[in-house]
Amino acid sequence: MCNTFSKLAVGSAEKRAFVENACRESTASPQPKSKRQEESSSSSLCLIDDFVKRLQQLNLAYDAATARLTELASLNDNKKKKLHLVLDLDHTLIHSTLVSDFSIKEKYLLEEDDSRLDLWRCNEYMIKLRPFVHEFLLEAKKLDILFTMHVYTMGSSSYVKMVLMWIDPDKVYFRNRVITREASPYYKTLHLVKADKRRVVIVDDTIDVWPYHQRNLLQITRYKYFRDAGTMSESYAEAKKDESRRKGSLAYVLKFLKHVHKRFEEELDCKDLRPLIPAPCTQCCF
Ligand SMILES: [Mg+2]
Repeated sequence: MCNTFSKLAVGSAEKRAFVENACRESTASPQPKSKRQEESSSSSLCLIDDFVKRLQQLNLAYDAATARLTELASLNDNKKKKLHLVLDLDHTLIHSTLVSDFSIKEKYLLEEDDSRLDLWRCNEYMIKLRPFVHEFLLEAKKLDILFTMHVYTMGSSSYVKMVLMWIDPDKVYFRNRVITREASPYYKTLHLVKADKRRVVIVDDTIDVWPYHQRNLLQITRYKYFRDAGTMSESYAEAKKDESRRKGSLAYVLKFLKHVHKRFEEELDCKDLRPLIPAPCTQCCF
């Protein structure tokens, strides 16, 4: 700075040259940083670099750990010939709706939730169990030597906790094998299920949410008990009837699981259950 003033104090030709030079420098390139500024920005860059490197390392470590867990699960599955059943909740095992969305003909249900075992009111929600759910879970549990059951839903964890308090209060069926929207917000993937992919049956009413594992998918008929907004047809609730218990979709799914179970028990070299699952287009919904 002192140098600058001393330069400005000299003759006008020199002054003009100095100003012109300064203008050129300021437009041509940024002012050079002081040594301290340089040190400070260089140290900030180092910190950011270091942070990014650590983040990348953590990412790699996470991927490696996930791959290892899947590999271990796969080895374990091979040893025990373990199979996995991944169940969706909404429209597969239950149908729930906001009480405020009840049609006029459905309002009688408000008087019935206390006396019915298949109907449960929780805060502003009314939840209806699909017929045959308890039998299905109980029977599938008997196959538990081979089948491990998981819940995989796009519902929020608080909602799922509420539903499972009713369906599986003692965590007999699913323990903590529950995946919710928080872990999987956009689509469903078996990468989050610790299991050998060749030994997983997915039961879900929606195909699109499983873009990468459709070979594992057994599509089930969408269960709708309450009237959906915009639907013209009468709901089960309005008609005071329900899906058949013994001939309904869950009964067919159970029959299929028993068939798979039997094949795995009988055929020692059977390692992949996916060829046993009909392609979605030919399933016509179970
Ligand atoms: Mg669903």
